[in-house]
Amino acid sequence: MEKQLMLINGKWIDSGSSDYIQVTNPATGDLIAQAACASPENIEEAVRAAEKAFPSWSKLSPAERADYLYKVSNVILKESEKIARKLTSEQGKPLKEAEGEVRGSAGVIRYFADEIQRTYGDIIPQKEPHIKSMVILQPIGVVVAITPWNYPVQLLAWKVGAALAAGCTVVAKPSSQTPLSPLEFLGCFAEAGVPAGVINGVVGPGGKVGEILISHPAVRKVAFTGSTEAGKKVMEKCSKGLKKVSLELGGQSPLIICEDANLEKAVKGAVRRSFRNMGQVCNAVNRIYVDRKVYDKFMERFIEETKKLIIDNGLENPSANLGPMVSKEALDKVIEHINDALKKGARIAYGGEKPEGKKYEKGFFFKPTILGDVNHDMLIMREETFGPAVGVMPFETIDEAIKLANDTKYGLAAYLYTNNVHTIRRVCQELECGSVGVNNVNVSTTNVPYGGWKESGIGRELGREGLKEYMQTKHIKLEFFEVEK
Ligand code: NAP
Repeated sequence: MEKQLMLINGKWIDSGSSDYIQVTNPATGDLIAQAACASPENIEEAVRAAEKAFPSWSKLSPAERADYLYKVSNVILKESEKIARKLTSEQGKPLKEAEGEVRGSAGVIRYFADEIQRTYGDIIPQKEPHIKSMVILQPIGVVVAITPWNYPVQLLAWKVGAALAAGCTVVAKPSSQTPLSPLEFLGCFAEAGVPAGVINGVVGPGGKVGEILISHPAVRKVAFTGSTEAGKKVMEKCSKGLKKVSLELGGQSPLIICEDANLEKAVKGAVRRSFRNMGQVCNAVNRIYVDRKVYDKFMERFIEETKKLIIDNGLENPSANLGPMVSKEALDKVIEHINDALKKGARIAYGGEKPEGKKYEKGFFFKPTILGDVNHDMLIMREETFGPAVGVMPFETIDEAIKLANDTKYGLAAYLYTNNVHTIRRVCQELECGSVGVNNVNVSTTNVPYGGWKESGIGRELGREGLKEYMQTKHIKLEFFEVEK
């Protein structure tokens, strides 16, 4: 069986404690690899390597760091099929989705290589003509990047692309459920010639390996993506050393569909954003509010289009739209939310069960599920389901829709379909979240800041803002001696 090693100081390293994580394929339940788990000594070695590499990496010019990253991006593209196969086999998403994730990640690395070359500070005049204030941007230091399993390569690319471009060095810790594709991805940096220690990857449980990493005194910034619950613990740990922290956390995103919307486009958006990656997307649509006048028509078309989704083992069927869920725990949470809704009066409009057939028996497969007759007492309308189940509710007025959309502790993303400019202006202004998709459902875009309000997070990834999360400002007050005439 394959053994996955860790990348520490430019070398592939086995576990210092003979501890291994068993990695299984969620489509078949088969054990596919063992990943070496970091001992405290491995963690120390990784952080010290990043610390040692920092002075020389941070002193390279932006253009020199960009050159390394352009090479990395090319290596990722060259290795994309191999990385994608690992991703599908450990996470379950169809191979074409995995390939898209990996190739998109190569694009993110390239974007940050470009962006760092147009990132600079300010020169601010003072009232005395011979005094100028220079504000410069400098890399923050050693970064710990902790990532989840739903987009294991992409979410790592967002962090390491920005961190390395800014001049930081990194120790990454991917999710224990999907360590293979992230480590294969990190290997591309070594293959492209990025100096040893600039980027390191260790594996192990968040509550243990993650917490030791965060608490290490040499670490100056933690970039975390995961659940709100774990994010709060990370922030607490960061507060002890006053470390900079960015948190990309859970979501519970609403989709509002108005009477005047292009209904076919809204249906397409609803299917994609409710069920893509089996709903295991932070900005997935969890709940849909439809103007009562078009509710029945929307439901009919939403069900028709959802029925067309092909569910299968993503490695074997190139036409698959959906694979299995990542784990039994993830599937159990979906079933819990559906059962809670049914108990409180909801009805299943479509799905609600495992698909029939021998090929689905062993994996964590489930039909995309649409619930009607829902209300805000139900978990499905308030908590993050993180699975392929969505509640659909009619509304009478746009005020009611806005109020319902904001009735959550989360604030990551929201979506609106309408052709009325006044509705667009008002709803976008009043929604409490970090991104709004109007007549589209694709809000995480490489050159635009992405992140949450309320309990969906702190800080931003991607875009110019995402790069600056890895930099700190320094004010240099410069007094020029008066030159004798
Ligand atoms: P999770 O359980 O919070 O884990 C995320 C990562 O944090 C994993 O690497 C995990 O390690 C680690 N971790 C857990 N507890 C930790 C702790 N106390 N200290 C340090 N690290 C810790 O989340 P998940 O189930 O993997 O991912 C799903 C969640 O991620 C959802 O809530 C989703 O909304 C969120 N997410 C948010 C975004 C966004 O951009 N806002 C994007 C994607 C996903 P182990 O798993 O190895 O123990």
